[in-house]
Order: sequence, then structure tokens, then C-alpha cells
Amino acid sequence: MHSTMMNFPLTLTHLLRRAGQLFAASEIVTRLPDKSLHRQTYREFHRRTCALGGAMQKLGLQKGERVATLMWNHYAHLETYFAAPCAGGVLHTLNLRLHPDDIAYIANHAQDRFLIVDDVLLPLYEKFRSQTHFERVIVVPLTGQPVPAGFDDYEKLLSDAPAFAPPQLDENDAAGMCYTSGTTGKPKGVVYSHRSSVLHSMVTATTDCLALSNRDTLCPVVPMFHVNAWGLPYSAVMVGAKLVFPGPHLDAANLLDLYASEQVTMSAGVPTIWMGILQALEKEASRWQLQPGLRMVCGGAAAPESMIRALDKFGMRVIHGWGMTETSPLGTVGFIKRDVASSTPDDEYAVRSRQGMPLPFVELRTMAEAGEAPWDGKSMGELQIRGPWVAAGYHELPSEKDKWTDDGWFRTGDIAIMDAHGYMKITDRVKDLVKSGGEWISSVDLENALMAHPAVQEAAVIAVPHPKWDERPVAVVVLKSGASATADELTAHLAPMFAKFWLPDAVKFVEAIPKTSTGKMLKATLREQYQNLFTT
Ligand code: AMP
Repeated sequence: MHSTMMNFPLTLTHLLRRAGQLFAASEIVTRLPDKSLHRQTYREFHRRTCALGGAMQKLGLQKGERVATLMWNHYAHLETYFAAPCAGGVLHTLNLRLHPDDIAYIANHAQDRFLIVDDVLLPLYEKFRSQTHFERVIVVPLTGQPVPAGFDDYEKLLSDAPAFAPPQLDENDAAGMCYTSGTTGKPKGVVYSHRSSVLHSMVTATTDCLALSNRDTLCPVVPMFHVNAWGLPYSAVMVGAKLVFPGPHLDAANLLDLYASEQVTMSAGVPTIWMGILQALEKEASRWQLQPGLRMVCGGAAAPESMIRALDKFGMRVIHGWGMTETSPLGTVGFIKRDVASSTPDDEYAVRSRQGMPLPFVELRTMAEAGEAPWDGKSMGELQIRGPWVAAGYHELPSEKDKWTDDGWFRTGDIAIMDAHGYMKITDRVKDLVKSGGEWISSVDLENALMAHPAVQEAAVIAVPHPKWDERPVAVVVLKSGASATADELTAHLAPMFAKFWLPDAVKFVEAIPKTSTGKMLKATLREQYQNLFTT
């Protein structure tokens, strides 16, 4: 056979070089801790990233060694996103919202050699310092204050750096690493390759996915320590989009100020963020002049239909996606296919509140007890996935092998329904399903319906052990400030939409629903709290 095409490796080094060559004038804006705006161009980004790469080489970074980050979303984090992998290392983003003991466990398990940390996060570092042994700790002086003795100064490292000589990389070399933020059990490390990051960037940028282009101004609110901010820093640099980073200021008013002042066209975050934005807009709609048609990528938890509708009224379009740390993360994204587009607006919302269709190169199946479930819009099964940006195993955790099937699919732990169009709908986590009298009840469907009630801010539905039915659903509800509703009113609101046995046996009103470090409802805590509701 004659040779075909060049064997050109899919590496992040190419994306960095391309950005420096083609997009030198694009901007990177960061909201600093003191709320002022820091601005640099891609030209500076490229120069400084190469300097950091050279500095890492001078410090002796070897192929495959981990460079940990403890940082908010900003320009220096972006520089590290490229410098560490392009110098042959592995970017390991530490989640600053975790308990310090867990951060230490993760850094040790990953055997991180270096740490790059924001000066404003040094107090957090001090809480786990004694449990870790980084060889060097490099401090980013975001506040402009001198870096304390005993640490390396990020800016000095850059200015003293030798020329960067990017090593030859194989596309299958490790590039990044992120630990799962599971609600139970020890965190598990997922390792991304150059190839998986590049392919994920290419596909997520396509028109029927996020349609990310050079003309976009992208504000990733999703933290860069959570699955690489959904890969957006890489896809944005690939297309040369303007980037706007919120730094540590993630409240609705600060985000809306930033969207307005920088004319952001696309943002990304978990539903909690968009709920906050919605509330702020409902109070003072005229305060912000936003870019019309602002796209908001929403994932990490289900986007309630009521929220999608409400944001539409403010000209903000939610794009619903699903994914996991193990899937880089994007596995599905919602877009309206041509044969669905002609249906009524109500159908459109029903489609948009689902999690969408598998991306090219991603394959899905749902497995029920009896075997593979049909794509009929009603059969539930455990969602399984395979594709080039789906993990093949966890970092040094062979005991978790059973998360992969013998025929090579990853078991997501999510319960889903596929319909004939190929749209996927998550109905639960395996461990959150309510099993009542042998029948399954979807907590997510009940939650979404509750959140459509005008008085409800947030709702979690949990399974509570029951002597007769095995388990019964209980709703835990946060009311909007100033609003009121009784348990009976909420049950009456649900009644027309569900079979009688689906209706929660109790509604509990609380001030707040406990959340994980990445904004997911901590149902395990709620289950524990209410476990004796029907048995004592
Ligand atoms: P993580 O690895 O922390 O990103 O969490 C992944 C899990 O978040 C998935 O397995 C789902 O249970 C949940 N998840 C992510 N996106 C969505 C979504 N759009 N709708 C419902 N659940 C989601």
C-alpha cells in the first residue's frame, strides 16, 4: 500500500503556535481580585506561555510529570494550560473548593511535582501545605503584592526564562489531568491526552455543537479546575476567540457587568449560575445592555425547562450539554435537527431541556436489566459511552476496572432515555433513582416540574426508605425570597403531570440545598437527613 497522509500529531503545541501566528491581536481580559480589568493580547499570551514553557524546562520538568494549579479563571491559568503540556508535562488542575485534606490527597495521589498558585489562594495552600511535598511552589502575583519569601515569583520566572524548545510529542502523550468530584468515595484521576483534547476542541467548536468562532467573545464561568472548563480554553484558542475571565468574582451582578462591558457572546456554567443571573435580570432588567442572542452553555446538572424559557425572554439562549470528568467532558449537546425544527415551540422547549444528541465520534447506548434499551423515548437504562475523548481507565486505580464493560464502553452511572431522533434525556443517577413498589420514579422529572412553579427557587427529590413501598419520593424545596407555597399546593401543581404514585409523600422546606464543590445537589446528605422519615 502506498503511504497516504502525513502522520501529523494532534497536539496542543500546534494550537499554541497557531494562536501566536494567526490571532496575535485577539484579546484576553481578566477580572482581577480587586475587580479591575487586566488585558493582554494573544501575542503576549503566546510569548508568556513560551516563556513559562522555557522556565518549566529550566526547573527540570520531565515528560509526563505533573504541574498542579490552584487558580481561578484568568490569563496565567490559560498560560499554564498550554505551557505545562507543550513542555511535555501534564497540567493537573486542583479544585480549590474541596476540603484541604482532599486537595492534599489528590495532589499526592497524582504525584504532582510543581504547584502554581494564585497569591490570593495562599491561605488555602497553607491549610494543606504540611501534607504535601511540591518541589517548587510558584506564586502568581494577581494582587501586585510582592511574593512572600520561600516561593517562586511567576512573573520573575517568566522574565528570567530561557528560550523555549518545545519537545517532540506524541499525540497520545498525557496533557492534562482532573479528579472526579464525586459525591461519594475517593476522587478518581482522569488523564487527558493531547489527541483527546485536540479532537474534543475541534468537535465542540463545530456549528451544530457550540458554534464557537473567531468572532466570539467567550466568558467561561465554569472553573478551569472543573474538567478543563469544559475544554473551552483549548477550543477558544484554537479559533482565536476573545476570552473574558471572571477571576474570583462569580456572583450574578459581577458577571452581568462583565458580559455588558466586554460584549460577551457566549458563556458557560452550571445551572446554579444561570438561576442567579435570571434572578438578577428579573429584578433589574434594564441595568445591563447585553449582546443580543448571548449563548449560555449549561451543563453539569440538568437545565430546567422553566429556566430555559425565562432566559429566552431576556434574549439569552441556553445550550444544554451533558458530560462528565471522564468524557472530557462534552458527550452530548442540544441542537434542533431540521426534521424537529418544524414542530411547535413547546416541542422545541421539550427538546432543549433534554441533554441533546451525541457529538460526532461519541457513541451512546442505554443498558437495562434485559439488555440494550430501544431508542423509543420511554425505556430507561444505564447510559454507556465510548469515543476518543472518553477515559479508558483511572490514574493508578485498577480496582475501578468494573466502570468499563467487557466490550469497551464506559458505565456513566447515569440513567437515561434515548428517543427515536437520538436525543438523550438524563432521568437520574443510578444511586438517586427512586424505586417505589418495584417501579422507577425519575427524581429529575419531579424536580424540573417543581422548579416550574412560580414560588420555587430550587428543588431536590430524594428516595426515602419506606416500610411498604421500599422507597418513596420526598421533595426538598427552597422557596424564592418573599414567595410562599404550601406542601399541598406544590403537590397539586405536580398532580396533573405525573402518575399518582410518582407524587412525593412529603415536601420539606429548607433555606438551601447542600451542593458539591462543582454545584451539584448533594442528595446523599439529604437522604441521610431524611432517612427515618417513614420508619420512626
Ligand atoms: P462531573 O464529572 O463532575 O462533571 O459530573 C458528571 C455528572 O454530572 C454526570 O454523570 C451527570 O450525572 C451530571 N450531569 C452533567 N451534565 C448534566 C446535564 N446536562 N443534565 C443532567 N445531569 C448532568
